[in-house]
Amino acid sequence: MDSIPCLWCSVFFIPRNKLQQYCSKPECQRKRKALWQKEKIQRDPEYKEIKNLSNQKWLNANPDYWKNYRRKNPKKTQRNRMLQKVRNHRKNSEPDRPITNIIAKMDARKPLKVDLEGWFWLIPEIAKMDAAKVLFHVIQECYE
Ligand SMILES: [Zn+2]
Repeated sequence: MDSIPCLWCSVFFIPRNKLQQYCSKPECQRKRKALWQKEKIQRDPEYKEIKNLSNQKWLNANPDYWKNYRRKNPKKTQRNRMLQKVRNHRKNSEPDRPITNIIAKMDARKPLKVDLEGWFWLIPEIAKMDAAKVLFHVIQECYE
């Protein structure tokens, strides 16, 4: 069989069969699997649900994983926090759209320095109740 370029690293290799498009390097196989999984999740809702349940089960068994990851990777953590702000803003910038699924972890002991003023929708995540539209006003620290 003729050699072909790997779809990930572009290095020529001899495929084991006609369907093989990625070389056998671990990095290329990881990429192939990740792409397969991404596509599978998009087209198979049952697979997506099972994957989510499996992830949740693993996370419950390893509750400190993300805490340790953030401690070990401060630059990635900082980058992700900045990108999450952008995603939150982009997702909720459409007019009259309720704000949902904002990921935020704030320490209640620290002063809240966020620019939240205006009308927002409070959407319960756990209790079964209707969403409520609320108005937030910024109260200056001198009013304590
Ligand atoms: Zn490769």
